[in-house]
Amino acid sequence: MWTRRQVLAQIGLAAAAVHTLDPHELCCVMPADAQTAGKDLFELKKVGDGVYAAIAAPRYKVNCNAAVVMTNDGVVVVDSHSKPSAARALYNEIQSITKQPIRKIINTHFHWDHWQGNEVYANANPGVEVVASERTKENLTRPDAGVGGVPYIEKQLAALPGEIAKLKADIQNETDPAKKANLESNLQQAEEFQKELQNMKPALPTRTVATTTTLREGGREIQLHVLGRAHTNGDLFIYLPKEKVVATGDALIDWMPFLNDGYPEDWVRTMDALGKLDFNHMILGHGEVATKAHLAFFRGYLADLVDAVKKAAAAGASLDDIKQSVANQLASKYEAGMSRYPVGRYRDRVGVNIEAVYNKTVKKG
Ligand SMILES: [Zn+2]
Ligand SMILES: [Zn+2]
Repeated sequence: MWTRRQVLAQIGLAAAAVHTLDPHELCCVMPADAQTAGKDLFELKKVGDGVYAAIAAPRYKVNCNAAVVMTNDGVVVVDSHSKPSAARALYNEIQSITKQPIRKIINTHFHWDHWQGNEVYANANPGVEVVASERTKENLTRPDAGVGGVPYIEKQLAALPGEIAKLKADIQNETDPAKKANLESNLQQAEEFQKELQNMKPALPTRTVATTTTLREGGREIQLHVLGRAHTNGDLFIYLPKEKVVATGDALIDWMPFLNDGYPEDWVRTMDALGKLDFNHMILGHGEVATKAHLAFFRGYLADLVDAVKKAAAAGASLDDIKQSVANQLASKYEAGMSRYPVGRYRDRVGVNIEAVYNKTVKKG
């Protein structure tokens, strides 16, 4: 691991200049896409002055993106991936840039892929605060909250033997060497993930926010916005007004949204509220850093989806028919933009999205 001084030497700065640099300047002279030790897990990209996005690489078990905010007396990290080893890789990377402690972990929502690495930061940094919305803290211990939280660790552990058995069978049956190698990698990742889950010591929120709150962290203003229900009932948006950056969690991603724990109609309104903030860049829950233009596209998908499902249902169509017709109806506008990654593509998810909207807006009403 590098010391700060070694980092400075590496980037060719005179030793005399070292003590005149503050941590912001130090981190900002790092190349925007510095080679990372955990490159198979994430790539650290500079988004603003002392603000980084750790963009997750595709893995068998998905990791969320994280946001890293350097301050004058510590570091704030938003979301912690799906497992301690992934969080540890990012923590090591952060420690190669600054020896300042991690002061806060902020969880955008309760889903497994956003908080299961919390313990790494908590163990390495006594006094670290784990911050989330009140709803998210509740969800993290509720058995019926959805795909995340302490009870969901048990559900993942219950599902893994089946997943592992299927991967083993698929490996046996696969004849294409490239596909076989991919399956073998997936099997290894599944087995490692199982071990990590078995040993997990969950670090839950130590501080909650009920309404929009401003933190002043080592010279930086970090606003935590509670804007309404969206991807979950407890989404938190982390907004840096000076740097004009927002971290959105999965309320905004660069592939098809997951609606099952969400509130489609509220979500559209929450996106409108987010749009009122003044920012240029968004660190999304998944996918590359986006400009504000992506907000209109993503909101448009949700609004058009809700509208189309309701109209088709009102005209008497069955859910099966709606799945066909609405998927095709929205494709020209959204299929290309929602299919930019190997996962979460339009045709993979549009059916379950339609069913979720149908269940949450038509059936219940
Ligand atoms: Zn996620
Ligand atoms: Zn999520």
